[in-house]
Amino acid sequence: MAGVNRGPASGDELGDDPAGVVVDAVGKTYDDGGTPVRALDDVSFAVESGEFVCVVGPSGCGKTTLFRIIAGLTEATDGEIRVAGSPVTGPTTDMGVVFQEYHLFPWLTVEENVGFGLERTDRSAAERERRVDEMLDLVGLTEFRDSYPKSLSGGMKQRVAIARSLAVDPELLLMDEPFGAVDAQTREMLQRELLDVWASTGKTALFVTHDVAEAVTLADRIVVMASEPGRIAEIVDVDVSRPRERGDPAFGEHVARVRDLIGARP
Ligand code: ADP
Ligand code: MG
Repeated sequence: MAGVNRGPASGDELGDDPAGVVVDAVGKTYDDGGTPVRALDDVSFAVESGEFVCVVGPSGCGKTTLFRIIAGLTEATDGEIRVAGSPVTGPTTDMGVVFQEYHLFPWLTVEENVGFGLERTDRSAAERERRVDEMLDLVGLTEFRDSYPKSLSGGMKQRVAIARSLAVDPELLLMDEPFGAVDAQTREMLQRELLDVWASTGKTALFVTHDVAEAVTLADRIVVMASEPGRIAEIVDVDVSRPRERGDPAFGEHVARVRDLIGARP
């Protein structure tokens, strides 16, 4: 339901939504002996099944912390995350997670990296093989199936990571600055590819970035964060028709508005 801003949601309206995410009054204080850091304070929003939501904000505003809490990798100090109505208590295979660094296994081939998560499912060998083939095709890496990560470019490595995260067919795709380490041209190509994958699979996507133009390219809605403490400044609907062109005035207006929101708060 792009374009409809429900604003911060604290309720259970998405309780039955199979891939709905509710971030409910989440707070996080890092307190490891020194001065405690309030990385997140009272962060609430909801993501609907099939929606593409970007979280954007300056470095240090708590984006990675929020990503890790949603993924079940870090515990919140306050509040909770619910996916399909159930509180997140640890990592699950219902989420495909793509990190800022590629996190590929260097000793496995592209094909083996993509199939890694499938090994732990109850699919037959033939099914797993078919699924890996589909994923390699989806990200255009079929001819590199026997290559090792070290021989791939950054953009290709991140495609492998995306294929791996999609292989187990998670309801939710969770990404933390996945294109941060690639050059601008490759980045725009990967954005287009990700949008194609999202559109063709109907996945719910939650994508963290500090790049405002990237967020406006991808998102139905943008959760704009401010820092110290990390919190929501505003949630912006991106009412720009797809495919989006950077030269489109509406695109530029959204970029300016989000930049303004980030700059306007300390
Ligand atoms: P972002 O991803 O937006 O750059 P982070 O979530 O990485 O922000 O960090 C938010 C704040 O929490 C920063 O002030 C950072 O220094 C602090 N922080 C992040 N991780 C830790 C940690 N493990 N221990 C202590 N402080 C941390
Ligand atoms: Mg980060």
